[in-house]
Amino acid sequence: MNKNAVVVFSGGQDSTTCLFWALERFEKVIAVTFDYGQRHKLEIDCAREIAKDLGVEHHVLDISLLNQLAPNSLTRSDIPVEAAKDGELPNSFVEGRNLLFFSFAAVLAKVKGCDHLVVGVSQTDFSGYPDCRDNFIKSLNLTINLAMDHQFEIHTPLMWIDKADTWQLADEMGRLDYVREKTLTCYNGVKGDGCGTCPSCILRKKGLETYLARKAEQQ
Ligand code: ZN
Repeated sequence: MNKNAVVVFSGGQDSTTCLFWALERFEKVIAVTFDYGQRHKLEIDCAREIAKDLGVEHHVLDISLLNQLAPNSLTRSDIPVEAAKDGELPNSFVEGRNLLFFSFAAVLAKVKGCDHLVVGVSQTDFSGYPDCRDNFIKSLNLTINLAMDHQFEIHTPLMWIDKADTWQLADEMGRLDYVREKTLTCYNGVKGDGCGTCPSCILRKKGLETYLARKAEQQ
């Protein structure tokens, strides 16, 4: 296997942490961002800015088809983002999103001569999205290998860690402030610490506070 990787990169906290993780491990790193008509184009601007800043080759691929198939609160301004009700997926869930994203990323990886894929999914605190689970990733890894008759390896550095641990990982790489200031995870399109009230901001803030408290305790 070569030492080249494609990172699926949204410009958010998780995928930016994964991008740094990949830059520490691989010789060539390419970032790929999917434009599926996100409500906030700012997300894609953030991704472009970070990739440029880090000198990483960056591809933004149009996958607006996804919004035609499955309109949801991340793409449609007339559908408000709501927290999940008991036992249900939140309405920000996009059916099949990671299946499509990671398959397209694998095609790009093959074309660009990269044997590795890095994706920022986590089974730990992500509302039970089926396409964030480890068994899905293992299954997809087998499928893309068979589909393209090639040996890919999909890496999921965040699979078994929570938001606090993700902040810790960024901190261990000396990138906590960078990730905190330059990324966008907020559903209302506010960069950095965000709007503070949407489900995504609440999760991110809680993780950061947990991590910073843990760090202070250890010092
Ligand atoms: Zn927010």
